[in-house]
Amino acid sequence: MTDCIFCKIIKGEIPAKFVYQDELMVGFYDISPKAPVHVLVMPKKHLESLRSVNDGEKDLMGEVILTVHNVAKKLGIDKGGYKVVINNGEGAGQLVFHLHLHLLGGWNKSPGWQV
Ligand code: AMP
Repeated sequence: MTDCIFCKIIKGEIPAKFVYQDELMVGFYDISPKAPVHVLVMPKKHLESLRSVNDGEKDLMGEVILTVHNVAKKLGIDKGGYKVVINNGEGAGQLVFHLHLHLLGGWNKSPGWQV
């Protein structure tokens, strides 16, 4: 999608600090981190949110979950524990309408907040 900031990052038109890339997925650091480690993992395919996912994306959704865990392992935050957040829609605080998973971790003990 031409006016999507994450599509522009994926295409290399806007810089980002990538931690992961393959044929289907990317992971890059959030520009405004809410945790010691805060990475956004997402499919390259432009889907606005979970609200626009359908049966045809079952494999892609499985892949994104495996990818977020692999990125957590790569960054060494899997053993201590990590959170994964997906905001869906403005009412949930979604700002960028390209489906993405927030991977949050790296706290020493507890993050101090629970959902
Ligand atoms: P959400 O509220 O779930 O849509 O999250 C969007 C996230 O994208 C926020 O945490 C922003 O800090 C982050 N963000 C916005 N622009 C950029 C950018 N250019 N590079 C990296 N992260 C960004």
